[in-house]
Amino acid sequence: MNLCDQYEAKLVAVSKTKPFSAIQELYETGHLDFGENKAQELRDKQPECPKDIRWHMIGHLQRNKVKYITPYVSMIHSVDSMRLLRKINNEAEKDERIIPCLLQMHIAEESSKFGLDEQEVREILENPETGQMKHIQICGLMGMATLTEYENQIRKEFKGLKNLFDRLKEDYFSEVPSFREISMGMSGDYQIALEEGSTIIRVGSLIFGERETH
Ligand SMILES: *Cc1c(COP(=O)(O)O)cnc(C)c1O
Repeated sequence: MNLCDQYEAKLVAVSKTKPFSAIQELYETGHLDFGENKAQELRDKQPECPKDIRWHMIGHLQRNKVKYITPYVSMIHSVDSMRLLRKINNEAEKDERIIPCLLQMHIAEESSKFGLDEQEVREILENPETGQMKHIQICGLMGMATLTEYENQIRKEFKGLKNLFDRLKEDYFSEVPSFREISMGMSGDYQIALEEGSTIIRVGSLIFGERETH
């Protein structure tokens, strides 16, 4: 899979609803980064999959399900509250791990999508408790654009996320090289996302085919 060609971005293959055989096929080409959006589904799939797969949790995560994934998850893209971040830190401590996390921003017009606004993300970053969490590492931001035909709208939302990333980097992470990821772009809009500075694209249907509704 080479959707990123001239860009340095990483591709996360979103395997939600897809069986082990589909994952295996891509894994055998050397691909290691896979994404799932449900904690239970990931918990059920992970044991039967190769252990060197890097699992990305990309969907809304309930606090009572965090423990299903902290023993092995490689990055959580969907952190959208202080309470969730605290829970991840606590579970990761039990697992003796440090889990890379992205803060999910609300950038779309639809009100149904999860995510923080700028004020909320700043509150998390300025909270002294955040700095004391030893078992999470905040590595950047994630966002999902509006589902629309209008490329300008999508581009504007991705540009907004990149600008916010740059401002937060300057204000809180100027000395922290690990704050460097912007997870944006899916099957329908990954090219725009790459042009606007995405470092991780999350692509499902374009790789695995359309999903059954689920
Ligand atoms: C399903 C999903 C994707 C991938 O969607 P496609 O349109 O199939 O590429 C990306 N990000 C999140 C958060 C998802 O839930």
